[in-house]
Amino acid sequence: MSDYKLNTKCVQAGYTPGNGEPRQIPIIQSTTFKYDTSEDMGKLFDLEASGYFYSRLQNPTCDHVAAKIAELEGGSAAMLTSSGQAANFFAMFNICECGSHVVSSSSIYGGTFNLLSVTMAKMGIEVTFVSPDCTEEELNAAFKDNTRAVFGETIANPALTVLDIEKFAKAAHSHGVPLIVDNTFPTPVNCRPIEWGADIVTHSTTKYMDGHGSAVGGVIVDSGKFDWMAHADKFPGLCTPDESYHGITYAEKFGKEGAFITKCTSQLMRDLGCVQSPQSAFILNLGLESLHVRMPRHVENGQAVAEFLEAQPQVTSVNYPGLKSNKYYEIGQKYLPNGGCGVVSFELSGGRAAAEKFMKNLKLAAIETHVADARTCCLNPATSTHRQMNDEQLEAAGIPAGLIRISCGLEDKEDLIADLKQALEKI
Ligand SMILES: *Cc1c(COP(=O)(O)O)cnc(C)c1O
Repeated sequence: MSDYKLNTKCVQAGYTPGNGEPRQIPIIQSTTFKYDTSEDMGKLFDLEASGYFYSRLQNPTCDHVAAKIAELEGGSAAMLTSSGQAANFFAMFNICECGSHVVSSSSIYGGTFNLLSVTMAKMGIEVTFVSPDCTEEELNAAFKDNTRAVFGETIANPALTVLDIEKFAKAAHSHGVPLIVDNTFPTPVNCRPIEWGADIVTHSTTKYMDGHGSAVGGVIVDSGKFDWMAHADKFPGLCTPDESYHGITYAEKFGKEGAFITKCTSQLMRDLGCVQSPQSAFILNLGLESLHVRMPRHVENGQAVAEFLEAQPQVTSVNYPGLKSNKYYEIGQKYLPNGGCGVVSFELSGGRAAAEKFMKNLKLAAIETHVADARTCCLNPATSTHRQMNDEQLEAAGIPAGLIRISCGLEDKEDLIADLKQALEKI
């Protein structure tokens, strides 16, 4: 499928049925697979032949969907995970161990921030956070001898900062380590980080890729471009024999294109699980089939809502990279020429009380701890995810009490704006 355009890949990549086979990807709801001889199965365990033996490691339904996402991102291989959290953890832990260090943009999803600063710290993996707006000098100064990866989000959730992927890739590569980019918000429809130098791309497929709020999931895509062997001293897990897996040296046996995902499957998935179910992969694929049709509408609605809100007297600020007033407008034009996503955040002058009243009066936009699905939803962090903080603490964290995040769905933008208008009038 690699010669086709992205729109065609969304619909058809990853699975080509043979004569008389099911048109839709079959849900292979089976934990295990049968073989005629032990010898046949032995070859699979030795990674001498490819095939399936147990769905914690690989499953045909999941593999078809992963192959589609690999094509969409322009990568060489991909694997599905049980969640976006698992995808980011595996992507980093596949090349980090106790004693390693990660350089990360400070503007990232809260779950990933905790993963790095709490859970991975307990494993002896250290992190240095840098502002996504840092200079090249500041970025380079964050590296240490034990740095093994650089991490950032194309459009950060929830801050909506846009990552200068080329700047981060250049710094990573000059220090001999890969750049991992979480591309959840723009999806490959609006940005393909590998084209700008990213080495590994991750997603919470729970968001736009699924797009209907139906299945939690994640994916890791390898560009196949990072030369592990050229930095073998940094990546012994890929470049020296894995005694836990028949003495295989992944980077030798599977090359640049296959080493990362093969190790991640045969080692991390084997030992930690976090596998996506075939049923969820099937649902994810239904979302992918229309991703290229849905994303432009999310962007159109996000842009319209952001422009409307910017003109309202009760609104003190609107954060959306598609607004000319936005700090990330220029960089957004470079990396996201067709727009980013449908998530907009804005602040009401009346603070917490105004936010509560406003949201109570919304009819179409539901209050949810979620973003990026077909139905518009919104959240006031001060009264929900961050309710343990007082107004001063919220202000210090850059989350003012009157801040609302709205994820614009696929409804008619005139209806969305009318809903916001009537709720604003009731504050
Ligand atoms: C939601 C999200 C995650 C976590 O994904 P889950 O599927 O909820 O585990 C990671 N990164 C970003 C950018 C997200 O929005």
